[in-house]
Amino acid sequence: MKIKRFPGGLHPPEHKSTAARAIEPCSLPDELVIPLAQHIGAPAEPCVVIGDTVAKGQVIAQPRGFVSVPIHASSSGVVTAVEPRLHPMGRPLPAIVIKPDGRDAWPDGLEGGMNPLLVDPLTLPPSRLRDMVRNAGVVGLGGATFPTHVKLSPPGGKKINTLILNGVECEPYLTADHRLMLEEPERILAGIDILRRILGVERVCIGIEENKPDAIAVMRDACAQRDIEVIALKVMYPQGAEKQLIFAVTGRQTPSGGLPMDVGVVVQNVGTAAAVADAIIHGRPLVERIATITGPALVEPKNLRIRIGTSLRHLVAECGGLREEVVKVIMGGPMMGHTQLSLDVPAIRGTSGLLLLDKNAVATRSEGPCIRCARCVSVCPARLLPTTISAYARRDMIAEAERFNALDCIECGCCAYTCPARIPLVQSIRQVKGAILAKRRLS
Ligand code: SF4
Ligand code: SF4
Repeated sequence: MKIKRFPGGLHPPEHKSTAARAIEPCSLPDELVIPLAQHIGAPAEPCVVIGDTVAKGQVIAQPRGFVSVPIHASSSGVVTAVEPRLHPMGRPLPAIVIKPDGRDAWPDGLEGGMNPLLVDPLTLPPSRLRDMVRNAGVVGLGGATFPTHVKLSPPGGKKINTLILNGVECEPYLTADHRLMLEEPERILAGIDILRRILGVERVCIGIEENKPDAIAVMRDACAQRDIEVIALKVMYPQGAEKQLIFAVTGRQTPSGGLPMDVGVVVQNVGTAAAVADAIIHGRPLVERIATITGPALVEPKNLRIRIGTSLRHLVAECGGLREEVVKVIMGGPMMGHTQLSLDVPAIRGTSGLLLLDKNAVATRSEGPCIRCARCVSVCPARLLPTTISAYARRDMIAEAERFNALDCIECGCCAYTCPARIPLVQSIRQVKGAILAKRRLS
């Protein structure tokens, strides 16, 4: 077995206690709060009003611009509000609130999807398939939520020759993609066939860390009749970051400030591939996803199939509630996830997991002075000088931080994780990145 890896990174404790937990359906909540901003790009525009009756899968908000996707009702019911609600990004943002009617009904009584395709999807032109992906609201399900149709529309001058499926799931605690590969490999492969048809690529690879030998075996078995490589990768965080994955699989280095398409590659998460299959073959929009609900404060961690808009509080109850007082709630993994201020926040399309930490799992030591140990430099997968950029960031020296390539930071958190002085490096770098981008927009 050929094992590859990228430079830098680290290996935090895995804590993947839900790896053996099969995916379970999550019950229907009393209320669904569906934000209009669930993807990178312009938020969607509501096309329903209070009092409207909606079917599951019905479009309730239309995209605004090319880098945007529609939003769909994740169950049937009545629209009870169109108003700002607390969003996972930490502030109130516009959302459509639905009171489910309990029937969970698709239009016209269709079950499991809306408009099943009656022809072989691989006979359809790529442009039609791309439009169908967009109309189904498919976005990157690894957490980035970049609209998938945009990634599938490289500009004329960019020749794509490699499609990489990301089955790495390198964040501690998360096992949703792992279970998807074990339980629904054919769904992923159906999506890969469609993605390959849209992009017209020669080479297709699935990258999986070698700590998931069962998933590697299942995917290799499923790919036996197809021209798809399943590549085992070293267990090293952040192996699942796009540029690091591309380097590990192809040896190609994405240039500073560049995109995967600059080196002829498109990367899609395995969950996104499955969502593409649902969209094209079953006409089923992205109204649910698999997420790992876990952490030491939780009674019974699980992998759940959740409707978009379900509150975190409902997800916690679905896992038996809390066994310990929660001191930190994170949406996503512990390295790149977003801290939540409340459980009354909805799960969105980018919710790969929910992590509930007790006091034993959260470091409380306070920040000290930098001891110039350079550990942050040696783990940085982007080959940056985190301590230097952070020092500039903290002094508002934006131009200097930019000169040290702050924008190449992928916010993986390796530097802050390894820093013995507990300096919040990634937080300050994230802030200065925002300042650099704001400055560029003004100039
Ligand atoms: S500087 Fe950015 S890319 Fe480098 S380790 Fe820190 S968070 Fe990761
Ligand atoms: S790891 Fe922390 S203490 Fe060491 S050089 Fe980097 S910022 Fe300084």
